[in-house]
Amino acid sequence: RYGERVPVGEGDELGDLSESLNTMAAALEETERHRQEFISDISHELRTPLSTLQGYMEGLMDEVVEPSQETWAVLYAEAERMRRLVDDLQQLSRAEAGQLSLEIATHPPHDAARIAAESMLPLFAEKGVELDEAVGLDLPPVLADRDRLVQVLTNLLANALRYTPAGGRVTVEAEHRDGEIRFSVRDTGAGIASEHLPHVFERLYRIEKSRSREGGGSGLGLAISHAFVRAMGGGIHAESAGPGKGSTFSFTLPAAGPGS
Ligand code: ADP
Repeated sequence: RYGERVPVGEGDELGDLSESLNTMAAALEETERHRQEFISDISHELRTPLSTLQGYMEGLMDEVVEPSQETWAVLYAEAERMRRLVDDLQQLSRAEAGQLSLEIATHPPHDAARIAAESMLPLFAEKGVELDEAVGLDLPPVLADRDRLVQVLTNLLANALRYTPAGGRVTVEAEHRDGEIRFSVRDTGAGIASEHLPHVFERLYRIEKSRSREGGGSGLGLAISHAFVRAMGGGIHAESAGPGKGSTFSFTLPAAGPGS
């Protein structure tokens, strides 16, 4: 009898068994609810750019929209947004299913930080946010897949930039402690209220719905970063002194010991 609870008789083995079956059923229901919510959120995310595309195409067919460069640019940007969302979904599902093929090797922390910072620098300059790459050259190497490490740093830098107004500052640092390298990306931007902090790594969680959408984030960046860091044997977490007071995202990865 699917969906019904087994009555719990107390104090006997059967009672214990039905107790644990009920706990399992409740956990399954919770997972199923999350899955349904996620599918509904993703449908919504895909429907928004699709509606814009269809609206423009109808306008073009009815000749009420000019077939101008500007129109093509809008169409392209919406298609691009959909592609990014689908790419991100695929990466996330691979990472969460443990299907990432990782090439773990030793890398100087500074190299990864420099590659990520250099790729983001033009966007920082364009917005007028200062980017300070301050990862020491003297740190021991980190054990990681270099491309994923660079991608996590780039995701965190992109967020820091997205949520920091012009005139702000973003700093990338790293330190060595207890056999781990801890990378941090600190910004002077929007900050995060404490009630939101535990949720920011959830898929499609957004503090302010409209703000991120304009900024072009897929809403999966932190979930992907979280999954990548975990797959490489580390942990990630967010800190903020509150709204308007900036945020710091840091993650740890194993440091290479002598001889590794
Ligand atoms: P998005 O594409 O919406 O940025 P993310 O998964 O990267 O998706 O981030 C999830 C949410 O966490 C964001 O929508 C935003 O509300 C919050 N967030 C992430 N990074 C920062 C930051 N550096 N400062 C303030 N809020 C942030």
